[in-house]
Amino acid sequence: MSSFQVKKVAVLGAGVMGAQIAAHLVNCRVPVVLFDLPARDGPKNGIVSKAIEGLKKLKPAPLGVVEDAALIQQANYEEHMDVLKECDLIIEAIAERMDWKTDLYHKIAPFVAEGAIVASNTSGLSITTLSEALPDSLKPRFCGIHFFNPPRYMALVELINTPTTEAAVLDDLEAFVTTALGKGVIRAHDTPNFIANRVGIAGMLATIHEADAFGLTYDVVDDLTGKKLGRASSGTFRTADVVGLDTMAHVIKTLQDNLGPVGSGKVEDPFSGIYGTPPVLARLLEAKSLGQKTGAGFYKKV
Ligand code: NAD
Repeated sequence: MSSFQVKKVAVLGAGVMGAQIAAHLVNCRVPVVLFDLPARDGPKNGIVSKAIEGLKKLKPAPLGVVEDAALIQQANYEEHMDVLKECDLIIEAIAERMDWKTDLYHKIAPFVAEGAIVASNTSGLSITTLSEALPDSLKPRFCGIHFFNPPRYMALVELINTPTTEAAVLDDLEAFVTTALGKGVIRAHDTPNFIANRVGIAGMLATIHEADAFGLTYDVVDDLTGKKLGRASSGTFRTADVVGLDTMAHVIKTLQDNLGPVGSGKVEDPFSGIYGTPPVLARLLEAKSLGQKTGAGFYKKV
């Protein structure tokens, strides 16, 4: 019987996912500290402060997160790293950039308590490659923990190990995620975008390509691909806006870099084939219309 217990969690990154994962944890009565980059123009304008303001507007309102996260509103890695020593679980949810994530792991490494688990919420970067960049001391307790958006409603969490992850780590995390957080777990191999995103992005891209080819409006497509298909949340374009079009582009890139037509090993032409970036998505990315996080995406007002 494992002695692992989660008394406090650190969530690194207070963006779309990190803020909501923190809220879900607190709703489940798990104390959480929420980190992001320091505010350039004072703590009131910090990303954590803004994330908490955003959480307050959610219906039904998340419980408790305001008090707990307020403790670290001004948190940045230079000044508040000691808090990490109190955390049994550290969930990294910063932007989907391999170099930023590995840089951050090096910064936090000296502050990670013995026996703590460090887990990445990456949508599909290689957990093994991330792990290889870690100091040796952290490798046995490192894995992937992939929540889906919105994390408090989506029932599934994917757990991903590496060749160096201790067997007990996924057992411990699975026990925590199922009993304390009320989620279902699947253990995925460390393949590009794991299971659900690999399947999900193919469906989304096929839908966007077809909508373009047939001149269908976003409303019509969302009506057809949302609740009528049994999706709890929303249709294709609204989901893309909620996920963030930049995050979606990173997911596509992971596939383009690692997969392609059978035998090719790569998608050579990014505008062809199932994993190609639809031109409309490319235009929105160019215009920095990234969906909900910037106020506009496929829909003009998100
Ligand atoms: P986001 O862009 O909304 O937020 C990322 C946050 O990370 C930002 O607040 C940014 O300030 C912060 N950040 C960037 N560099 C940092 C650093 N060095 N140190 C600390 N903070 C830093 O991104 P997101 O959509 O929340 O995605 C976060 C992670 O979760 C990514 O790996 C993404 O692939 C994954 N994910 C996203 C979704 C989704 O639907 N958006 C779903 C599942 C998993």
